Amino acid sequence: MNAPEISVIVPLYNEEAGLPALFDRLYPALDALGADYEVIFINDGSRDRSAAMLRTQFEKRPDVTRAILLAANAGQHMAIMAGFEHSRGQIVVTLDADLQNPPEEIGKLVAKVREGYDCVGSIRQNRQDTPFRRWASKAMNRLRERITRIKMTDQGCMLRAYSRSIIDAINNCREVSTFIPALAYSFAQNPAEVEVAHEERHAGDSKYSLYSLIRLNFDLMTSFSLIPLQFFSMLGIGISFLSALFVVFLFIRRLMVGPEAEGVFTLFGIAFFLIGLTLFGVGLLGEYIGRIYQQVRHRPRYLIGAILERKE
Ligand code: UDP
Ligand code: MG
Repeated sequence: MNAPEISVIVPLYNEEAGLPALFDRLYPALDALGADYEVIFINDGSRDRSAAMLRTQFEKRPDVTRAILLAANAGQHMAIMAGFEHSRGQIVVTLDADLQNPPEEIGKLVAKVREGYDCVGSIRQNRQDTPFRRWASKAMNRLRERITRIKMTDQGCMLRAYSRSIIDAINNCREVSTFIPALAYSFAQNPAEVEVAHEERHAGDSKYSLYSLIRLNFDLMTSFSLIPLQFFSMLGIGISFLSALFVVFLFIRRLMVGPEAEGVFTLFGIAFFLIGLTLFGVGLLGEYIGRIYQQVRHRPRYLIGAILERKE
């Protein structure tokens, strides 16, 4: 295979139910672009028949299909990293396997990169997810807007396109926990956004539990901002100052009114609040330290079990 113009990166984890529909739509959509392309599927350690189905698909379209079979689940963003490292296109597009982002929209993003934009994000029109997910996304987008320099409307939409220079820059990063749209944006010189359609998941369930969503958002915030830590030191200074004032106030009251024992539940209330705040601060510190620890161990970010590609 000569280097194609477009590489489409599709990470997938236990997507056997949706793969046939994905294959049926993705290839015609790409053929219609009339450009040289490759599709790189990354099987992220699925426990179902996804890997076997990728093998069959590879045999059907070996001219444009490559598959990286990871030995264990590394997470969506690390799976995409594996795809980036093996991609050869001048334009690299990421796409989810569940058809929530229609493959027919890829042309729109490719056109934008051809115009000279190096990092093309997307905004989901009429997002088809649960109200909780939509609300949480909005809140996280707002938080990111405040504590990082990353500017994007819809950080969670993974249908995005990047120029080769951005992918090369990302491939030089050795981060073990990251959030790809933000990482790409931080290298962009000429970013743009386009609106894309959004559909309900065609088959199977979301691969993100509430727990993994929270972890993903910590990846985003800790990778691109120290403001959460600085906010806690500022808060600590503020609370210490107020506490000192309060002690002075209690001391004067003690002299003027004498001993008092009322208000024990108010005291509990305040104490529990502060304990909660302290625990949250310790946890937040742990989120940063844990990531530093993972990083300094220098373990491989993902383990490749096999690669399916046509040999020259
Ligand atoms: N995915 C993955 N590894 C994981 C979790 C998810 O490769 O550990 C893939 C998944 O198969 C899908 C994409 O990442 O192709 C987005 O996942 P999903 O659609 O479940 O996320 P949601 O749309 O609910 O945010
Ligand atoms: Mg999805």
